[in-house]
Amino acid sequence: MKQLKNSFQKRQQLKLFGTFLISFILLFLVLGAIVGFLFQHSIYQNVNQSLQIQKEQILGKGTPNRHPLKPQQRQKNGQQRPPISGAPFQTNIIVFNAAGKVLNRDVLGARNYQLFNQVKLNKNQLNQVTNLDFNTNQRTASRFRTLLLKVSAKSSQRQYAGHYVLILINTDAEALAIHSIFRSLLITMIIFTLLATLLAFWLSRIGMRPIITAWHKQQEFSANAAHELRTPLAIIQNQLEYLLTKPHQPILAEAEKITISLNETSRMKALTEQLLTLARSDADVLQLRPSQVDLKTLSEQVTTPYLEIAASQHKSLRLETQATALITVDPDLIKQLIIILLDNAVKYTPAGGTIVFTTLVSTDHWGIKVSDTGCGIPDNSKKQIFDRFYRVDSARQKEQIGYGLGLSIANWITTQHRGKINVLDNHPQGSIFRLTFPRHVHYR
Ligand code: ADP
Repeated sequence: MKQLKNSFQKRQQLKLFGTFLISFILLFLVLGAIVGFLFQHSIYQNVNQSLQIQKEQILGKGTPNRHPLKPQQRQKNGQQRPPISGAPFQTNIIVFNAAGKVLNRDVLGARNYQLFNQVKLNKNQLNQVTNLDFNTNQRTASRFRTLLLKVSAKSSQRQYAGHYVLILINTDAEALAIHSIFRSLLITMIIFTLLATLLAFWLSRIGMRPIITAWHKQQEFSANAAHELRTPLAIIQNQLEYLLTKPHQPILAEAEKITISLNETSRMKALTEQLLTLARSDADVLQLRPSQVDLKTLSEQVTTPYLEIAASQHKSLRLETQATALITVDPDLIKQLIIILLDNAVKYTPAGGTIVFTTLVSTDHWGIKVSDTGCGIPDNSKKQIFDRFYRVDSARQKEQIGYGLGLSIANWITTQHRGKINVLDNHPQGSIFRLTFPRHVHYR
């Protein structure tokens, strides 16, 4: 049993841990992807803007650049771009004729020309921003963002007029920045994943506590239920087996055996009904069906038959049900609640004792009070009597038939109606169950 509990616990904890960890990692991945994407986007947005400024200048629409062909210069948001090591150029312009021959070789300089000589004029890429990678003599490849323009023959910019102009902006700095941000993101993600592993482990342990408690309660509940059902079943089985040995006896002669079996059957029926109510309340399938009823009518309906029951057991029952008010409740459940309280009061009050049932009404509340002069409830049991299968361990109380389920059901019905139960001592002896409910409730 313990082994089973441990393996169940471990399996559940592992599941929770996995769920938490995967959720955290997914969150980090999404966060990383968003940060990375936004960073990359904003960096290349600046480069694209620079390409547009150059384009306007070349086409003669923007502020004229006094040295349009001079390499190493690029205006970026009005600032000079700092040169980076290993990047041979920042902005360069190559002028092609229609046949693809480079016309501004002298302006490019020998070193740059050697590099840009690899570039072929591709007229299909006209007015398109594209990326271009070069293998330089240096350690790394250089990356450029390019834009190809066709300048009109009538352009005032004589050096470009009628030619194709390819603007190249070196993006090594951007690539380096992106590379470093991605590296930082990766390190951050690794650290966070480690932290998330610890957090997921901790959360899975905390999350397991209520599951273990519920599982434990469920186990206890099933074991107790099976135990309680076994006794009446065994009695019925005994009686029936006995009857089988007397097949020719008239029924009347064995009436006692049959009555015992019938009594046990009705006890079992009552028990299974209580078990069913509790199981349904656990599964949340019992829906409250509220309607407006008169408290006086409802309480009199349920309590009047008890006058006879109490009298037959030489106990006195006084009904104080004059208080009247329209209340919104589930009438069947409230009836069940009153029955549980009255049953107990009658059961645990010896002959000669008095039971008083009272209904109470105020502006905001209504209530029920059941007091008896019975054996009373010890202080240390006053909370536990609402636990399932709990019965006060006194000889007098154990004598009475019961399974310790009535008050758990009463407690559940009260909570469903947003009410409260108080258990008090009656003086000089006995107990008082006082229940209070709000009068104005909105049930879901
Ligand atoms: P049961 O079927 O045993 O009566 P309940 O859940 O109704 O189960 O009550 C739980 C226990 O609380 C009882 O077994 C009894 O010990 C105690 N109890 C309940 N009502 C009274 C009462 N009016 N007077 C004395 N003891 C009570």
